[in-house]
Amino acid sequence: MSKQIHKAYKFRVYPNEVQKVFFAKSFGCARFIWNKMLADKKEHYQLDKKSLKNTPAQYKKEFEWLREVDSLALANVQMQLHQAFQHFFKQPNVGFPTFKHKGKKDSYTTNNQKGTVAIDGSFIKLPKIGPIKANIHRSIHGLIKSATVSKSPTGKYYVSVLVETIAAPFPKTQSNIGIDLGLTDFIVLSDGTKVANPKFLSKLQNKLARAQKIMSKRALVAKKDNRKLRDSKNYQKQKLKVAKIHEKISNTRKDFLHKQSFNIVKNHDIIVIEDLNVSGMLKNHKLAKAISDSSWSAFTTMLSYKGDWYGKQLIKVDRWFPSSKTCSGCGHILGKNELKLSDRSWNCSSCKSENDRDLNASVNILNEGLRCLKLKEPLVQGS
Ligand SMILES: [Zn+2]
Repeated sequence: MSKQIHKAYKFRVYPNEVQKVFFAKSFGCARFIWNKMLADKKEHYQLDKKSLKNTPAQYKKEFEWLREVDSLALANVQMQLHQAFQHFFKQPNVGFPTFKHKGKKDSYTTNNQKGTVAIDGSFIKLPKIGPIKANIHRSIHGLIKSATVSKSPTGKYYVSVLVETIAAPFPKTQSNIGIDLGLTDFIVLSDGTKVANPKFLSKLQNKLARAQKIMSKRALVAKKDNRKLRDSKNYQKQKLKVAKIHEKISNTRKDFLHKQSFNIVKNHDIIVIEDLNVSGMLKNHKLAKAISDSSWSAFTTMLSYKGDWYGKQLIKVDRWFPSSKTCSGCGHILGKNELKLSDRSWNCSSCKSENDRDLNASVNILNEGLRCLKLKEPLVQGS
């Protein structure tokens, strides 16, 4: 069965000077109205623990310049703020919405109203500002719903176009797979495939570490000379360098994760992963780098929505299930302290088989997922 889905296409755009000014104003107004509405909500919440229902329109009298930008941009801020509060109230790990700062994630979102957002040749048309030169590196399919304009810390402009489209399911492959988040590899699959972390990522990370060191040194020099960081040219130059490497790492990593998740969803019908609490694990400093680097949670999210788009099933098994310590051959479970983090393989004392640590874990994850699925089946059929 085909499915209606939302898909985002991100394009680099090259605004002229007038358009840059318009974008800067729009980012500023979006940020201002977010902070203003949030401050008022916060005050109201502290007074009587209830949420204040405020709208951008009521601020336009006092702050007339809000009328100069696309009103949909402000309406979208209201919606985003509402969602942030919903998450705060409903999800235990989500904190109170925070204020936005200039230069960090500058963006605004507008909607398509009967063709006000469109792609025309090598231009993207947006409300109130018209066509902007763009690098349309791929064609879009479907109905445009909205567009988000953003500016990266390195000064590049992007437009992300959200499209409503139909996803046709992938053919079934009759193959099921368990995935373990590897310690040395990015992932290890239950069929024996090991996917290494891309080498260029670690090279970029070393480059980033070096650049950050220089940046902190320059900050110290500026401080010694009693200069403000924003007036220190050397510091600013290095800061831009650091931001550029960050951007490169983020883009390469995203590409890598998209490719890996796409392949897995295409090649397997049932996909089982461990439901790791990444934010909980990040507190363990030894593992922190490896986990954040391999972006396990982003990868899980991609598997989840791609599986949904293309008719494949993703199962998450309990993170307390002892996937590493159980012998996939006979089910024997190792005792406390019998498996060290550094042990790459272990011999089962019960069935004498040698278990590769990560491969053994991924086979256990697959089996556990299939077992949970079988347990659930009667419930699904009975309902
Ligand atoms: Zn065994």
